[in-house]
Amino acid sequence: MILAVTMNPSVDISYQVDQFKLDDVNRVEHVRKTAGGKGLNVARVIVQMGENVLATGVLGGTIGEYIIQELNKSSIPNTFLKIEKESRNCIAILHEGMQTEILETGPTLSVEEGKAFIDKYEDLLSSVSLVTISGSLPKGLPPDFYCKMVGITQGRGVPVILDTSGEALKQVLLHDEKPFAIKPNTTELSQLLGTDVNNDTNSIQQALKHAMFRGIEWIIVSMGSEGAFVRHLADDYRVTIPKIDVINPVGSGDATVAGFAVAMQREKSTETLLKTAMVTGMLNAMEAGTGSINMKKFDQYFDLVKVEKI
Ligand code: ADP
Repeated sequence: MILAVTMNPSVDISYQVDQFKLDDVNRVEHVRKTAGGKGLNVARVIVQMGENVLATGVLGGTIGEYIIQELNKSSIPNTFLKIEKESRNCIAILHEGMQTEILETGPTLSVEEGKAFIDKYEDLLSSVSLVTISGSLPKGLPPDFYCKMVGITQGRGVPVILDTSGEALKQVLLHDEKPFAIKPNTTELSQLLGTDVNNDTNSIQQALKHAMFRGIEWIIVSMGSEGAFVRHLADDYRVTIPKIDVINPVGSGDATVAGFAVAMQREKSTETLLKTAMVTGMLNAMEAGTGSINMKKFDQYFDLVKVEKI
């Protein structure tokens, strides 16, 4: 079973209005509410791929209850540490072809709540064979919280696929115990290194020379419509994908993590792993729902992805 961790889940609310009026009343007819957070998208895609997954993390209050109800409705097995503070809402207002977002930071966790989560997490590890950790850390937890989780997990022989950014990612990469896999995009690599990293193979190879990437078995640098650059141990690959009609690319990176995790769980070859990860990302971009894929289209697109060793 794969354990999909989301430390700061949300209810994602999307409001669609013809015109967004500032300093005035905006009435909304088209409202969509979903259980959000990167790790929940990962879990949702894994379920659609027919693999066993358990979603975990920290949530609380009535918003937390709503998230659990939504996960149950979608048959996503879940077990969260429940806290008294409210989980967050993240609002996206779609107007005039634009998207204005209002993102709550979410609850501030106490040291005790951080410890309680680690206790729960350690219990869960005995029944899983792969862990995905996605998204930001809630306020209150130390920036090296993911280092601790990676250390505990891999110390138990369970590989971790980590998809986070900023300080939380930097802390892990500066630590000795490296995650099994990471999936940065070029923006995240640029942030991490403080230099401009673009989609060119040379630019990415130059970036990955930094000591902080040493010891990571898989580095998947996803590049939206341009596919991905992948480093597996000493081998580099360029993965190219066909042109698709994009409906909503939000969550494609999470779908890529899910595809990679499922193929890893099924012990697939390098080529199949990379093709699967790309196709699940593409399938997500072709649907309106975040973390939603149509598996009926899987084989058709799988054959169109090209993996080339550099
Ligand atoms: P992130 O959301 O983490 O930045 P990407 O945007 O790189 O991740 O998307 C992950 C994967 O999803 C890509 O490698 C690709 O396979 C697919 N994908 C995302 N956006 C597009 C797009 N516009 N066209 C085709 N495929 C896409």
